[in-house]
Amino acid sequence: TATGEGLVVQGLSAGYGPVDVLHEVDLQVRPEEIVALLGANGAGKSTLVKTIGGLLPARAGSVHSGGRDVTRMRPERRARAGIVTAPEGRRLFLHMTVAENIELGLRLSGRGGGKALLDEVLDLLPVVRERMSTQAGLLSGGQQQMVALARAAAASPQVLLLDEPTLGLSPRLTVEVLDLVAELARRRSLAVLLVEQRAQQALAVATRGYVIDRGRIVLAGSSAELLGSGEMSEIYFGAA
Ligand code: ATP
Repeated sequence: TATGEGLVVQGLSAGYGPVDVLHEVDLQVRPEEIVALLGANGAGKSTLVKTIGGLLPARAGSVHSGGRDVTRMRPERRARAGIVTAPEGRRLFLHMTVAENIELGLRLSGRGGGKALLDEVLDLLPVVRERMSTQAGLLSGGQQQMVALARAAAASPQVLLLDEPTLGLSPRLTVEVLDLVAELARRRSLAVLLVEQRAQQALAVATRGYVIDRGRIVLAGSSAELLGSGEMSEIYFGAA
């Protein structure tokens, strides 16, 4: 069915003030699927994530999660309906410990999966477990990304929105973070929308991808199709 499972976005438009940024975006992410959202700087990736997460109102179109229409819900209610975002820049409280950051995130999402789920997530992220009593501001960028991932995963999402989880990380840590995302998606049957500038690395863990350009989806296909597409290198790597 069109809106039965995972994340379904239909005809979504949004913008800021007088400016329309997103134009009738259609996309779908099924449970256990990682789908890459690729595009150059300013293409509209973060705007799309904000609109799906409810931080920015939709001007047209709809967002469904697990068959429920969440288009008019505030971000907190969307989180409870299963859409959880790990935002760009991680948004940790740097003066708080890792444990406090995770607890607070879970309380705000109103959807904590309890201690059992947190334990399961921390089993996958031993780096985070070791640092639970460390101040978040003292962690490296990679470690902070892992904490943000743990916080989002422990909120028991059905749909996980990841806005550039590898931003600023070394190639080695990038692979590590993306492998963890894949493991989480598999274990917890998550529908993951993975926003990335690093197309190659993202498509290595994603099954499919979309390319956004000036607020429109201009290409969609399997990872293999996108990696082999000349059109994609033109759009995506074109000006670079
Ligand atoms: P990046 O990878 O640089 O984050 P992006 O693909 O996520 O890029 P967006 O941040 O969604 O792109 O930006 C899309 C367009 O919306 C850009 O033209 C940008 O200037 C504009 N924009 C983003 N945020 C705002 C805002 N708060 N107010 C007005 N315009 C904005």
